[in-house]
This record gives sequence, structure tokens and C-alpha cells, in this order.
Amino acid sequence: MSIRLENVNYVYSPDSAFCKQALKDINLEIKDGEFIGLIGHTGSGKSTLIQHLNGLIRATSGRIYYNEQDIYESQFNLRGLRALVGLVFQYPEHQLFEVTVFKDVCFGPNNLGLSKDECEARAREALRLVGLKKKHWQKSPFELSGGQKRRVAIAGVLAMKPEVLILDEPTAGLDPKGRNDILEQISKLHREEHMTVILVSHSMEDVAQYVDRLVVMNRGSVFMEGTPAQVFKHYVELERIGLAAPQVTYVMHRLAQEGYKVDPDATTIREA
Ligand code: ADP
Repeated sequence: MSIRLENVNYVYSPDSAFCKQALKDINLEIKDGEFIGLIGHTGSGKSTLIQHLNGLIRATSGRIYYNEQDIYESQFNLRGLRALVGLVFQYPEHQLFEVTVFKDVCFGPNNLGLSKDECEARAREALRLVGLKKKHWQKSPFELSGGQKRRVAIAGVLAMKPEVLILDEPTAGLDPKGRNDILEQISKLHREEHMTVILVSHSMEDVAQYVDRLVVMNRGSVFMEGTPAQVFKHYVELERIGLAAPQVTYVMHRLAQEGYKVDPDATTIREA
């Protein structure tokens, strides 16, 4: 699996008073098995960008390649792409509607026209992958906590067996414990199932400790990309675009992990 964007631009409502260029000349490559953190201030274009990756939004100009195939060519199977690139929207639990958790997770595979056995096997596997205990499977989704509901919604996407999992602010609105649990679970999917993951967040702190690579967006453009340590070194620029720098202790740890010499007595990022 690979995804490549070449000079992608996107304009909302062109030719109207509300015309807004949300993406500007995006060039980006996502490789198999990568765990990417897509970060940026609200309105920087993150949601617009990820909706291009599974063809929900069509670029105003530029090209997108999935496994080196141009997704805008007429012979490309765009519908198939939606199953390969699983997108978990913000507050995905708002879309839960079935009478039980299990049925909800079966919904997607059912729509693919798979057999009942196959749908149920996929649902069991997906619920196991998100770490939702079996005792909850026959409950109504509405009886669950916020974090549990979100796991069910993620399981619904995993049951489609995507090659890439994209999550838009998966920790929004959860308490700190719920946030950690979800991030740990996503990280486990990447580590143990070798899933390619794109995690969208406006908080560096949330994602930096898990991802291999950060892609920082600002005003519709890719502002910076690199390993967390490479990106953190530019904390002044990051603060300028409204991204609070992560905790100093964590930055130190990460820089050291990536082989940078770190002064153990340093107490501010500036000294890093
Ligand atoms: P983010 O996900 O980083 O918060 P978005 O991709 O949602 O950013 O938004 C990027 C820009 O596009 C923002 O200026 C936003 O106001 C604008 N935008 C988003 N959705 C629409 C829409 N449906 N119509 C017009 N403008 C939009």
C-alpha cells in the first residue's frame, strides 16, 4: 500500500462569495506500515486533506495515487478505495444506530454483501482489535461510556478490513483516561497488526509519543514534516502557528531516543 499526493489543491465553493482555498499544493507520501500524525491548528485543512485520501472529496487540481495508480482515472475503482482507506470521522459514535454493538459493527460488512458468517467473524475480530470486552457486545451502544462507544465506531471501520486507518481527532471529548486508552489501542493496531495509521489531531502532545512521522499543516499547506524530534526542534515556528510545544520532559526523552545529545539539566525547550 502507498498513497502519494502531487500538487493537490482544493477550493470549497469556487466562484462564490464563500470561495475558500482549503488545500494548497500538497505533496505528500504515505508508505506501507507508517504511523503518521497529521497535526495543525483548527481550520488548517486536516479534515479536507484526509477526505481526499479515500476519494470522498475530489481535488480541484493535482493528482493522487494509490499504489501508484491515479485515483482520478476513469478505470480506477473509487468505491473500492473507500473500503481500503477506512476513515473514522470526528465523534463517530453519533453514527451508531443499531440495537446492539455487535449488529452495529456487522453493518458495514453486511453492505459489502458478505455472508452472515463472514460478517460476524469480521465483527468479532474488529471488536477484539479495539479491545472491547465481550460482555458489552450484545448491549445497546447507548449503554456504553464515551470511550467504549468510540471503540465500537472504530471497530465498524476495521470490520471493512481497510489497508489504511485514518482517524480524525479520535480523542476529542474524552477524559484523560479515555484519551490514553484509545491512543494505546490505536498504537497497538499499528504495532501488532502492522496497520498503516494516520492520526489527525490539533494536539502535538496527544500524538507525538506514538507516531513515526509528524506532518504539520498550516493554512492549507504542509508546514513541516519529520520525526517528532526533527519537528520539535522547530518549536518557535510551531508556537507561531498556534501549536503549543509538548512537555519539555517528553521532548528531551524523544530527542535522546532519536540520538540527539540532550543536556540532562535542561529545563526548557530552548535549552534542548
Ligand atoms: P481542520 O480539519 O484542520 O480543522 P478543515 O479541513 O476542516 O480544517 O478546514 C480547512 C478550511 O476550509 C477552513 O478554513 C474551513 O473553514 C474551510 N472549510 C471546511 N469545510 C468547508 C465547507 N464545507 N465549505 C466551505 N469551507 C469549508
